[in-house]
Amino acid sequence: MREIKHWLNGTAVPGTSGRHLPVWDPATGEQQAYVVAASTAETAAAVASAKQAFPGWRAASLSRRAEVMFRFRELVDANRKEIATLVSQEHGKTVADAGGELARGLENIEFAAGAPHLLKGGYSEQASTGVDVYSIRQPLGVVAGITPFNFPAMVPIWMFCNALVCGNTFVLKPSEKDPSVSLMLADLLRQAGLPDGAFNVVQGDREAVETLIAHPDVQALSFVGSTPVARHIYEAATAQGKRVQALGGAKNHMVVLPDADVDAAADAAVSAGYGSAGERCMAVSVVVAVGAVGDPLVAAISDRIGRIAVGPASDPAAEMGPLISREHRDKVAGYLAAAGAAEVVVDGRDAPISSGPGFFLGASLVDKVPTDSPLYTDEIFGPVLSVVRADSYEEALALVNDNEYGNGTAIFTRDGGAARRFQYDVNCGMVGVNVPVPVPVAYYSFGGWKSSLFGDLHMYGPEGLQFYTRGKVVTSRWPDPATSEIDLGFPKVR
Ligand code: NAD
Repeated sequence: MREIKHWLNGTAVPGTSGRHLPVWDPATGEQQAYVVAASTAETAAAVASAKQAFPGWRAASLSRRAEVMFRFRELVDANRKEIATLVSQEHGKTVADAGGELARGLENIEFAAGAPHLLKGGYSEQASTGVDVYSIRQPLGVVAGITPFNFPAMVPIWMFCNALVCGNTFVLKPSEKDPSVSLMLADLLRQAGLPDGAFNVVQGDREAVETLIAHPDVQALSFVGSTPVARHIYEAATAQGKRVQALGGAKNHMVVLPDADVDAAADAAVSAGYGSAGERCMAVSVVVAVGAVGDPLVAAISDRIGRIAVGPASDPAAEMGPLISREHRDKVAGYLAAAGAAEVVVDGRDAPISSGPGFFLGASLVDKVPTDSPLYTDEIFGPVLSVVRADSYEEALALVNDNEYGNGTAIFTRDGGAARRFQYDVNCGMVGVNVPVPVPVAYYSFGGWKSSLFGDLHMYGPEGLQFYTRGKVVTSRWPDPATSEIDLGFPKVR
């Protein structure tokens, strides 16, 4: 069986802990590889490698660092098909979907290549007589990223491109469920000219993460994953004095007002609810149908579900793949079994593929979901779309704002005034107006509110650069020694 190795100091190295974690093929239900979970010592070795590389990489000119990003972008683009196929083999999403993940990742690399412009500081000449003041931003040192299974290429790219271009060195702990692509990206960074040690990968689980949290040489942690782990990492690492951005789970509501185009709203709900089998942090998991739009909308969504082709990524006709693991598939199916008073309109468990050896579950639709049902309160992270009926805009808005999560939300309407009011009123970090998956482009930043993000700065874009640098302000004077005198008063500027 194939071992998926660590990446230390510019080369792949086997694990030594003896603790094997399986990597499944979600389409067949069979194990295809394994990682050897990094021990504390192995994780510390990755941090040491990054620490050693830091002074040299930091000293590289901005142009040189940007050039590595340009080259990396070309290499990722040239290997797009191979990377997407690898993502599909371990994650289960279709190759086209994995290609979409990479396309967004490429935008993040392009942003990082242009970062020197945004790393410019300010300069105030003659802030006091003969005194100039200027600001600079400097890298933090060794920073670490801990990433989830659902975007094994894009989310690490969100983090390490900005971190590296700022002059930091990086340790990545990817998801143990689909870890191979991390090694391919590491090798492409090497080919792009990144010095050995500037980027390292430790495969593993909680043990590696706890080591990164506790390690005194790790200056900052970026995390993307579920809310309980995000909260834990934020609390534990900030208690160690580290800078942390920890993005958590979501329950994204799509509000459909009575004036919306029903077919367009149904297309959007199906695309955003079942794309990547609902395993996206920006997936729509709740449709809030306001007033009379409810019945026609549920009928239109139900009609479309019957046309979704569910199958393995190896089938070019497949539009939706399996879930990440058997345990997760069974957990998601359990929500349908316990639907209670809610109306299960389409039960994905009935799809023939759901009883095969792969971790498949057909797309499911549940209507009239009570807001105290686990279907509504939990992040299900699967192809289960819940519909909640609301009588008014105000009731719909209150649902979104009272929810524990505040990642993304969307409103579907033809009324510009209602949309404007929604974007003003709603307590979420990312809002779509007739756009169901409002993932910001790379030159804005990504992040939710409430239990969807712990920390002050969102990920990638301008806030990403801020996260990976710290500011310094220099006040300088080049006086004529003849004018020098002692002055015990407080420094004056006027
Ligand atoms: P997860 O929280 O189980 O794992 C994420 C990472 O944390 C993995 O690398 C894992 O090895 C590690 N980890 C797991 N348990 C840990 C523990 N107890 N202590 C320390 N580390 C631990 O998440 P997942 O199942 O891989 O990903 C799905 C989740 O990620 C969903 O909740 C989804 O909403 C969320 N997500 C959020 C965003 C966002 O931008 N807000 C983006 C993608 C995914």
